[in-house]
Amino acid sequence: MNFQFYMPTRVLSGADCIKNNSARLKELGTKAFIMSGKSSAANNGSLHDMCEALKAEGMEWCHYNEVKPNPSLEDVRSAAEQANKCEADFIVALGGGSAMDAAKAVAVLAAEPVSNEALLGQRTFNKVLPLAVVPTTSGTGSEVTPYSILTNNAMETKSFLNSEQVFPKLAFLDGRYTLELPRDITNATVIDALSHSAEAYLAVRATPPAQALALESLRLIGSVLPSLANPEPLSVEQRDTLLYASMLAGIVIAQSGTTAVHAMGYSLTYFKGLDHGVANGLLMTEYFRFIEKARPEEVGKIREALGFASLDDFGALVETLLGTFTLSKEEVTKFAGIAVKAGNILNTNPQPTEEDLYGMLSNCFLGE
Ligand SMILES: [Zn+2]
Repeated sequence: MNFQFYMPTRVLSGADCIKNNSARLKELGTKAFIMSGKSSAANNGSLHDMCEALKAEGMEWCHYNEVKPNPSLEDVRSAAEQANKCEADFIVALGGGSAMDAAKAVAVLAAEPVSNEALLGQRTFNKVLPLAVVPTTSGTGSEVTPYSILTNNAMETKSFLNSEQVFPKLAFLDGRYTLELPRDITNATVIDALSHSAEAYLAVRATPPAQALALESLRLIGSVLPSLANPEPLSVEQRDTLLYASMLAGIVIAQSGTTAVHAMGYSLTYFKGLDHGVANGLLMTEYFRFIEKARPEEVGKIREALGFASLDDFGALVETLLGTFTLSKEEVTKFAGIAVKAGNILNTNPQPTEEDLYGMLSNCFLGE
């Protein structure tokens, strides 16, 4: 059996995991640059718990609360300047994918202000600041990946920072921070996690351990999916399950990468402002139908792990959760042209042609 498996992040999970493991923060440095969005970290309790833990260890911090959704290269450069002004020697991210991805880029840029080309092209850097993360959505899995996805305005798409040096040193998983997440964000992020596990399971770079974790994460997500269609709030146990499942999905993409769904989804986010998870979710069923033609058994395993009798049933539930979206014929042509050049198309098995991508996008977004 030929494979590699590398996951260097220390995951600390459970209620009060920040408080109970505050001493671990001391291993990272003496002054933290805490990154979050405007108000979410203050509202969900993660900011309070992190500051109390730092205080308990006699450590200092600055708080930067200007992380925007889909952070750009310009955004992370200006945040890195703030981190330097604060003289921070490690970074803490509180939030979803945007906060964690921005923090990874800042961990590189605050240590050494490399060019955008180097940031996105190099796999190793002279120095990267250590990073601790607290995911407060259940979707990106960025807490356990070496990836940071950044908006690249010059290239009109999303670009990747990919370096093992930006794997977080610590990831604190406390489902209570996700309890008050609005349902639309919950749905979109859960579907993103689902796409990570499903795509990585089917990827060219799929490996046996990653596939095992992918199926387990799909089973757990499938156990909560029907509840997402109901208006009742999710239980703490369900929130914990989703946070755990999205972390597993993160480990899986760190090993195997994403495929055509993410390749197509980036244009929907960049040009149409569609949320990343929603974009992936809307494409998911058509992607399964495309792959199923060549690999019916493997797609069947994913469908069964999720607990659906047919792809039609799966598609119907996704539509209930995320709604529908339409594009013009010109947009579909343009997005297929962009997606076919994305690196993760090479990781798709079977590899779709531009025509195949056009077909999937048309079936999803052109309507009858
Ligand atoms: Zn994703």
